[in-house]
Amino acid sequence: MNAINQSGWKPEMVGEGRHDVKTYTGNKALMLEEPLIFEIGNNSTTGVDLAVSPKVISRLGNLERHRDIALPGLSEPEAVRHYTRLSRQNYAIDLGFFPLGSCTMKHNPRLNEKVARMAGFADVHPMQPIETVQGALAVINELAVWLIELTGMHGVAMTPKAGAHGELCGILCIKAALEARGDKRSVILVPESAHGTNPATAAFAGFSVENIPATSEGRVDLAALKSRLGPDVAGVMITNPNTCGLFERDMKAISDAVHAAGGYVYCDGANFNAIVGRVRPGDLGIDAMHINLHKTFSTPHGGGGPGSGPVVLSEALSPFGPLPFTERHADGHFSLVEEETAGERHPHSFGRMTAFHGQMGMFTRALSYIMSHGADGLRQVAEDAVLNANYILRSLEDVLDAPFAHSGPCMHEALFSDDGMAEGFSTLDIAKGLIDEGYHPMTVYFPLVVHGAMLVEPTETESKATLDQFIGALRSVAERAKAGDPLLKSAPHHAPRRRLDETQAARKPILVWREPEQAVAAE
Ligand SMILES: *Cc1c(COP(=O)(O)O)cnc(C)c1O
Repeated sequence: MNAINQSGWKPEMVGEGRHDVKTYTGNKALMLEEPLIFEIGNNSTTGVDLAVSPKVISRLGNLERHRDIALPGLSEPEAVRHYTRLSRQNYAIDLGFFPLGSCTMKHNPRLNEKVARMAGFADVHPMQPIETVQGALAVINELAVWLIELTGMHGVAMTPKAGAHGELCGILCIKAALEARGDKRSVILVPESAHGTNPATAAFAGFSVENIPATSEGRVDLAALKSRLGPDVAGVMITNPNTCGLFERDMKAISDAVHAAGGYVYCDGANFNAIVGRVRPGDLGIDAMHINLHKTFSTPHGGGGPGSGPVVLSEALSPFGPLPFTERHADGHFSLVEEETAGERHPHSFGRMTAFHGQMGMFTRALSYIMSHGADGLRQVAEDAVLNANYILRSLEDVLDAPFAHSGPCMHEALFSDDGMAEGFSTLDIAKGLIDEGYHPMTVYFPLVVHGAMLVEPTETESKATLDQFIGALRSVAERAKAGDPLLKSAPHHAPRRRLDETQAARKPILVWREPEQAVAAE
């Protein structure tokens, strides 16, 4: 027996998270309460009638299933509504401003979507004969040329499928380059101001990770970095602009010192949107840098799905880049350089990151974005992203502590701390209070260099009116935290659920659904 009936009503739902308004259904105006599909589905129901063909079954050679696997069945309208209701419980960039720092949640122009949906791009298959996908290869090649041009680098690996995947690709290039010269360096230096994926990547690739402190300005401590360099250091991973939202001004000096000590320089370029068109990483001595197409070049964030994080490479590292890659021939036709064809031209490749050539849908969107902006438009993107972040920083520094406001203008994101709130009030209360104001919270408790960090990234796609409204909302929540408003401690009040136990969710996540009786038995 299911604990709830088909309407989704549970006795304990009455009043829960609903501001004391009792309803029969648990629904909140037009926001509908939605149980799990296992709770509303029914094994004997199906939305389709499949004719059971004895021919198909006999081909399985006794491997056919005899037991019911108990998948919940729904009629078609029930299934459509279930997923549509779930989708409405998501906050999305198409619904409202998304100030999540370091994530660059910006509007994805619909033009790019239109181009990516053109059948010639959307319907190609990676195993099609190469003569039939010349246009797709031309798109990949054209995007690669743009990325090399914009970064001033030597080569680019297009296949990595996310920022962190790109980091792994770059670090594997460094590893292969060291192996090729018989060098056993095993340490990667990562400054405090780096993104969390950097040390994770270095460790995953088998290096040991050592921390370099930040200065009181929130930048890499150059002297500390230099004093740690030596024959065991394979390289550094530096996020620039860093996670304090600041440009690492000493980048060239860092690269020179690392190179002089025989190491390589990895730059986390996920936040390239802050400097595109203004700074060429190649001029700063960088050897490898990933670019998140879903941040800078406005492809949708995959949510674990189809992301893309190409890695630009220096001349020193390009020979070690992954296969396959596209090659343009003198007669204008394209081919893919793969293991069988790499031969003497690319013998040092460390291998593959992906089965095929990368994320076609993202390449198409990114190239459409780049071409519709042009070089001048891209420079303006960076300028507007930085302008918007500074507008937020300066508009709120009187109510929120801005620990690095003295370090000069920020780049694409504004960093605040929890300093100055009433006793017992924290960053978490501000984040939850923002939900009641209709905003997805900013990034909280990251970066770690600041106590109770709040990192706000407005991006260049937001208008002044949107920013002013957000500033007003954050200001009012911050003032409540300073005044110690007890209602803020129990926010959110207007969301479908009240404050959840995040520690419990992280430490003891319930990842498997069980029938209610079994759940009780298992406890
Ligand atoms: C987003 C981000 C990453 C990770 O990118 P994914 O595509 O999420 O793997 C790495 N570094 C920085 C600085 C980022 O902002």
